[in-house]
Amino acid sequence: MSTVVIAGLGGLGCPAALALAEGGVERLVLVDDDRVDLSNLARQVLYTTEDVGRPKIEVAAERLRAVAPGIDLELVSGRVTAETVDGLLDGADLILDATDDPAARFVINDAALAHRLPAVLGGIHRYEGLVLGLGPGFGPCFRCLFEDVPAADEVATCAQAGVLGPIAGIVGHLQARRALGLLAGDYARHTGFITTVDGLRGRIREVPLPEATGCPACGGLAQRLDIRADHCPITYVRTKLALEALAPGAVLDVVMRRGDPARNVPRSLAEDGHDVLCQGVLANDDYRVVVRRVP
Ligand SMILES: [Zn+2]
Repeated sequence: MSTVVIAGLGGLGCPAALALAEGGVERLVLVDDDRVDLSNLARQVLYTTEDVGRPKIEVAAERLRAVAPGIDLELVSGRVTAETVDGLLDGADLILDATDDPAARFVINDAALAHRLPAVLGGIHRYEGLVLGLGPGFGPCFRCLFEDVPAADEVATCAQAGVLGPIAGIVGHLQARRALGLLAGDYARHTGFITTVDGLRGRIREVPLPEATGCPACGGLAQRLDIRADHCPITYVRTKLALEALAPGAVLDVVMRRGDPARNVPRSLAEDGHDVLCQGVLANDDYRVVVRRVP
């Protein structure tokens, strides 16, 4: 059973929640402290004029149960903050950032890294949107792109800047699509780039991001081992030695060729008792295995 935490039930959270419920996610934790307002109905597609003044999470729950009757919903009246995020992630499989709050986005980014959980971050501003997926050991993360929370006067919320309604729908759906891919364990295909939505030109682009950023948040998460030049069984021996040199609980990110190494290395590591967190083919046809050392 998959549990997804949706932080924010506004312009991004409404379409994302619908798409996840329809996509078969069994359990959603809806986090929001806001009430339905007439001014945001155009992009917050779960609400109608009759809902104005009611808590968003309550109305959202009614609509989601109407489209997915078997869904398990937990309603949390509040916001994602440094104080609340750890409790919200307890038992979760993924967190989806649909807040209108850069500070919350950094909190979600850092907590997902610390809990080794996948996350999908999203944002919209006027005519533009972005989506970024993270997996355990698979970045880059939001802090690789933007080092820290901007000063309050440098950013405008959707309410201040205005936003083109359909952009929220596109970004929310893209976030849900990415979340379903990450929940399926396909980290290689859903991380490593940022999706940008240009609402004025009607363009959606995937912009590749650099692997190594020296980022303090995720740079220390995984150590990289490149064994693309090696053959079996040297590939396994090198991985085993590199893993044993790490502290228990540390994560090793191994890149190898497809074929025998990709088949044998993860299986042998799992037989040794280590946690193979994820594996998959990279865009350049190399194979990547992320493994956590157990004591
Ligand atoms: Zn980073």
